[in-house]
Formats: sequence, C-alpha cells, structure tokens
Amino acid sequence: MQKTMSNRRIGAVLVAAGRGERAGQSVEGPKQYRKVGGEPVIRRALRAFRKHPLISEISVAIHAEDFELFRQAVGDLAEGVTVVPGGPTRQASTRLALLALQDKNLNGVLIHDAVRPFVDAALIDRVCADLSVGALPAVPVSDTIKKADKDGIVVTTVPRADLYAAQTPQGFPFGKILEAHEEAFRQGREDFTDDAAIAEWAGIPVRIVEGSPDNVKLTWAKDIEMANARLSQSFPDVRTGNGYDVHSFGEGDHVTLCGVAIPYHRALSGHSDADVGLHALTDALLATCGAGDIGTHFPPSDMRWKGAASRIFVEEAVRIVRERGGRIANADITLIAEAPKVGPHREAMTATLSHMLKISPDRVSIKATTNERMGFVGREEGIAAIATATVVYPGELPE
Ligand code: MG
Repeated sequence: MQKTMSNRRIGAVLVAAGRGERAGQSVEGPKQYRKVGGEPVIRRALRAFRKHPLISEISVAIHAEDFELFRQAVGDLAEGVTVVPGGPTRQASTRLALLALQDKNLNGVLIHDAVRPFVDAALIDRVCADLSVGALPAVPVSDTIKKADKDGIVVTTVPRADLYAAQTPQGFPFGKILEAHEEAFRQGREDFTDDAAIAEWAGIPVRIVEGSPDNVKLTWAKDIEMANARLSQSFPDVRTGNGYDVHSFGEGDHVTLCGVAIPYHRALSGHSDADVGLHALTDALLATCGAGDIGTHFPPSDMRWKGAASRIFVEEAVRIVRERGGRIANADITLIAEAPKVGPHREAMTATLSHMLKISPDRVSIKATTNERMGFVGREEGIAAIATATVVYPGELPE
C-alpha cells in the first residue's frame, strides 16, 4: 500500500448481491457478472478500487448463491478482498459488508454499486478528498423534470436548477455510516435507496462532489449493449505474436504444410507430422498471451505426440487464447521452401486454417517464398516457416 499524505485509512464496499432482473436473463448470470468489453462488470468495478492507492480494504456483498460466479468473474482480483453473503435488500447487503470491515481500523469508507463499472481513479480521488462528512458524487440533471398524476397527465414542471442525479461511490466517515446503518436496522427502516439517504436521515452532512457522466449504472440489457459499444471504441488490447519453425527433409512421399498433405518425394522429419506452418502458428498464438511455446505444452519427449497431427497443437493454443478471452483477428504464415510448390494448395490451406481458428478466410494469409537457393532451405535440406498472429484481449491497455 502506497503511503498517502495522511494516515487516513479508507475502505471500500461493493454492493453486488442483486439479481438484476431488469437486464433480462443471461447465461453469464446477473448483470454484475455480464461482460462489457470482454470483462465482467464486477471485475471492472473491483479493479478501480483495487488499484487505487487510497483504498486499503475492500469488502464485497454478493448473493449467497454467487460465490463460484464471483470467483470466476474476478479471478486474481479476489485476493485480500472480504466477500460476504448479502441480505434481501441493497441496504441490508451494504450493512453486512460494512460490518465485515469494522475491525479494520478505517476512518472512511466508499460504498459503490458493482453495476457501475466505469468508476475511475479521478472520481475516487474526489470522493476521498474529505471524508469528515459524507461525499456524494452527482451530476446536475440535464433533462427537464415533469411531475405527473397517476393517469400520466403532467401536473407540473419541476425546477431543475438545484437537482442532481446521485451516483456512487458515496463516501462517509466509517464509524458514522456504520452506526447510521445499525440504527436503521434496529428501527426496521429498510426503505432507503442509497447510503446518502441514510446519512441524511442520521444527520450526517453530505456534500456533493463532481460526478462523472461516464459513471453510468447498468440497469437494462440496453445499457450493457451501449457499454460494449463504447468500450470497443476506446483502446482495444491488441496483441501480436510471432513464431518460427524449421524441419529437415527425410524419407517419405508427402509433406504436411498448414494442415494439407502435399505429395512429394520426401517428407519432413520430426516428432509429430512436422508441419512447420502450424508449429510456427502455435508459437505465435501462445505468444499473444505469454503462454510459453509449443515445447512447453507438447514436450517432444512425450510419446503422445509421436506422429501427431499438428492441428491439435494449434487447437490447444486457440483454447488457451480463448480461455483468456482472446479473439483471434488474423493469422499470417510464410512458408520458406524451394519445393514443393505451395501455390496450388493455398486455397485448401486457407480453408483448413479458417476452420481451425474459427475465423473467416480473409483473416488467414498463407504466403510462400523460396530462399533464392541460399542456405539450408536453398540447398533443399528442409522447410522453414514464420507466423504472426493478432489477438484482441478483453480489458484495456495498461496506462
Ligand atoms: Mg516444429
């Protein structure tokens, strides 16, 4: 933990126990576990607090059934985070998450809705600036506000000059907000829609700090679609990897290049089918996520890979890339050989790779060149290949 200007200790509570029915059902679970920009909403929100130097403790209230979902969604970010089962309402969940921090010697606490994944460091800074009283990030209301009767007939236009839309994280002196929650609990008051409302009720002054228009709450399925669209326009995490391989000629009647068997009076020798193109591509794919190389995953000493079709190496690399949320944008392979001729087989190779990588043929490139009769390739002792893969990963580039 970075030393801050004072010895203030500030914690954060993430409220994530809701079921989010308004966003519709999804295989990814409630909306805080849906992905925006390839990353679960809750992970994105948690990351903002985890990496902020002023925040020293975090507790998250989740639904009692969501522990596995939470673990999968946040991965390594769960380290050091206190996770508690929430209650039947947001207010009840917040109280339980605050109680989990009561022995952490905190001066202040920020309470945040996990379905606001676009909270940023500057906003956290503004809320933390003074936690001797409450701090409420808010934006001035820009729409004209109408009041209507139960038949939907407008009764009046509400002056909006001093109206604000409340956001989270809302910051408070820790002891005071916990005591306010405890008092509301004792009195059976469970109708507060945010923590600032509880603070007002308990007589804790709350000052407004500048909110952020980006800090939207994802409530509806449409909100998630819009968040995805917005993120795709920011800085995508595009990574490239390269790979190189070479195999020498031996006895045989065909060579296998990019998954296609080509009749030839010799074969490439190697432990597997010696497909240099697919070996180079496997390395290129693994390189995009720092996952080692083909030898790491398929040691030549392992008899299982003897004579193996190299497509299993590529398919394993694809699985590893996808497991990390990667989407393959393109693959480019150059085969370096004096013979056999690659041109007549290019179409079949492209189709094979397109199928193997589950990307369209225009994202696959197979090129071939001779070595102008120079070197070991020029002397027709073997075939070499180089490959480049581009994969786009979820999340944003490091700052
Ligand atoms: Mg090889």
